[in-house]
Amino acid sequence: MPQHAAYVNDIVQAMSIKYNNLVYEMERKGVDVIVLSLGEAFFDIPLYPFDELPYPAINHYSHSRGIEELREKLADYYAGQYGVPVDPEKEIIVTAGSKVAIHMSLMAIINPGDEVIIHEPAWVSYPEQVRLCHGTPILVPYHESTFDIGKYVTNKTKAIVLNYPHNPRGGVLSKEECDYFHDLARQHDIYLLADEAYSDFLLSNEEFVSLGLNDPAKEHSIVCNSMSKNYGISGWRIGYVITNSDLTFQILKINQHLITCPATILEYYLARHFEDILAITKPQIQEVVEKRKLIAGYMDSIGMSYLPGSATFYFFVSIEKSRLTSEEFCTRLLMENHISTVPGLGYGRSCDGFIRVSVGTESVERTKHGIRMIKELISETSR
Ligand code: PMP
Repeated sequence: MPQHAAYVNDIVQAMSIKYNNLVYEMERKGVDVIVLSLGEAFFDIPLYPFDELPYPAINHYSHSRGIEELREKLADYYAGQYGVPVDPEKEIIVTAGSKVAIHMSLMAIINPGDEVIIHEPAWVSYPEQVRLCHGTPILVPYHESTFDIGKYVTNKTKAIVLNYPHNPRGGVLSKEECDYFHDLARQHDIYLLADEAYSDFLLSNEEFVSLGLNDPAKEHSIVCNSMSKNYGISGWRIGYVITNSDLTFQILKINQHLITCPATILEYYLARHFEDILAITKPQIQEVVEKRKLIAGYMDSIGMSYLPGSATFYFFVSIEKSRLTSEEFCTRLLMENHISTVPGLGYGRSCDGFIRVSVGTESVERTKHGIRMIKELISETSR
């Protein structure tokens, strides 16, 4: 058999997806799994009729920047909700999920050997995407302060990847941190690649700070976002990237060669029902973030520890007292207790003493049961 590309051989599976695939297989066999591993929240959303959409346009390729109607809605959303002006003609591309938006952005800026700084816990795909672009991910251990990230900048640094609200910590970006990152970017002439996929998942007394705010011309900022989480439609694969018109054009060429355009029928559907869906998901997003707060209180009351955060629906829970590695821990929890979580190792080498727990899909009772079992497994396997 001919050889695979060596650098692809070295890429690891996305840890969260690997464990979720195990869950799908167990569920198919009829096992009742308490799912604390999924990277989404389940919402009640109506299905609007598809037969009202423009026919036959829905059957065909669309503009490779995404249809104008949807670009305009998304641009208005960023300007109206988050205060970031976006030119829908030149500064946004709608594509098949934000995962590929992030990847294409990295492809457009990385030369072989360039370094990209990522603070752990790092979402599972950032380092592998950097490697797929022949760049070098520079992973900053989780215990380092945000304000020490500057120490990792070298003359090979091309970008810093930032994810706020944060998966898996649940942290939000402060104004001070936002200023700090923009100062670094200006000082060293590097990009900030902001992944804002959870932009609406904040408590009602917290404010979402977009990294686009401090750089309205988007000279060094690339903002990626998604309709997967805020609209509860991860399976539709619709995401977008916002940056200056020059870089947008570079990304556009990649988009044209890789996917042409996102699914046209879904673009028309989402442009037409943009506000309707948001009006329905926003209160449900609030409920999920409130549920996270309630579960945080529960974990505090039974003495479990996790990295600080208040947003999203994730916790990065410490299993430091267990002698098991995070993979051994999650495998045992899944096979013996039928509770699925994601090993911390997937989020970086410094994170093997953690597991990711998502509270987006199960009831409070089942989530609490899952958490009690995690605590028991920690005690049972304690050093
Ligand atoms: N960024 C983060 C931090 C995520 O958690 C995810 C989904 N798990 C994505 C990006 C990608 O989402 P999508 O491709 O569905 O837009």
